Amino acid sequence: MKDLKLAGLKAERSAIEVNGVTIGGKEIILIGGPCAVESSIQMRQSAETVKKAGGKILRGGVFKPRTSPYSFQGLGREGLNYLVQAAREQDLLCVTEAIDVASLKLVAEQIDIIQIGARNMQNFELLKMAGKINKPIILKRGLSATIEEWLLAAEYILSSGNPHVILCERGIRTYEPSTRNTLDLSAVGVAKELSHLPVIVDPSHAAGRRDLISSLSKAAIASGADGLLIEMHPNPAEAVSDGPQSLHPEQFVQLAGELGVVAEAVNRVFACRQKNKEETLESLRNEIDDIDQTIIEGLAARMQIVSKVADKKRLDRVKDNTREKEVIQRLTSLGDELKLPPELVKKIYPIIFEVAVQSQIKRKLVREKEIDCSLVSR
Ligand code: PEP
Ligand code: MN
Repeated sequence: MKDLKLAGLKAERSAIEVNGVTIGGKEIILIGGPCAVESSIQMRQSAETVKKAGGKILRGGVFKPRTSPYSFQGLGREGLNYLVQAAREQDLLCVTEAIDVASLKLVAEQIDIIQIGARNMQNFELLKMAGKINKPIILKRGLSATIEEWLLAAEYILSSGNPHVILCERGIRTYEPSTRNTLDLSAVGVAKELSHLPVIVDPSHAAGRRDLISSLSKAAIASGADGLLIEMHPNPAEAVSDGPQSLHPEQFVQLAGELGVVAEAVNRVFACRQKNKEETLESLRNEIDDIDQTIIEGLAARMQIVSKVADKKRLDRVKDNTREKEVIQRLTSLGDELKLPPELVKKIYPIIFEVAVQSQIKRKLVREKEIDCSLVSR
């Protein structure tokens, strides 16, 4: 590969330092966040989770290159503010994707690291522009790009003047339909054999399903990746894009807690912040108290909606067995994913429904009495 004049292997591997974070050093760098920025609260919650997990960089797309023109295209400038603000509050760096020269100029003003997505890997004008800015670039491998094409795309950025390129393997298109793409982990080793640039792995867009993210992430570290880029959403079921591949916050933190030993096994380090905190009986009980409070607040909010629902129902149709069954089924499989014993959901939810139905009947009876009285007094 004679044209890898700048991207080709050198005596020393490149480590990219950006605002106190080094990508390509001994430490494995964790990047996390939703596919798309949707709201300030969503980004704040995501940033808290990334911080808790020991992640260093918050991600979130504000310009979304979507396969369908009718899919959500991103919040643009407004989303950029949510991302930057949330990252700043947690002392994290942030990364977002630029899809053309205009968005590149816009994000370069505020963002620490810029992503060029798989669909734009061979947008040569964009690559040349990315070479003219002073921010590190995460260059994703194209959907069907060979490793050589990927490295030559990096060469475009380097030869235009920007030495800070991070390669990102995110799965390639193959004939296998059980995953969204096929994660090519051998590409990590090959890219590192041919180039001095750091290589990170995005298992989310490779797998397209959250159940594989944990094992693929560990495999990526074992294969020599310098970092991971993982999609995580505070509420994946409601995500506007890539919900099925997004981890729940608890799963993200749990995975981060498991990465340290894998990193250590390949002579790297990763410290999950949550894990390093000293756990005492008191600190653990405090955590439980916080969670219990959230549960009760959630139940109270649920009951308020339940009483609004009562007004939309007929008195003889208050109990809806089909809906109850559906909800329990959905929550049991969610619980299953989060490793909750199934009997917990199966025992708690019938009680919640029972109390809700009783309160709806009571409310409807009171309402009917009020209507009767007003008719009599007329
Ligand atoms: C993304 O990171 O949100 C994204 C669109 O990734 P890719 O370009 O790898 O599909
Ligand atoms: Mn995505």
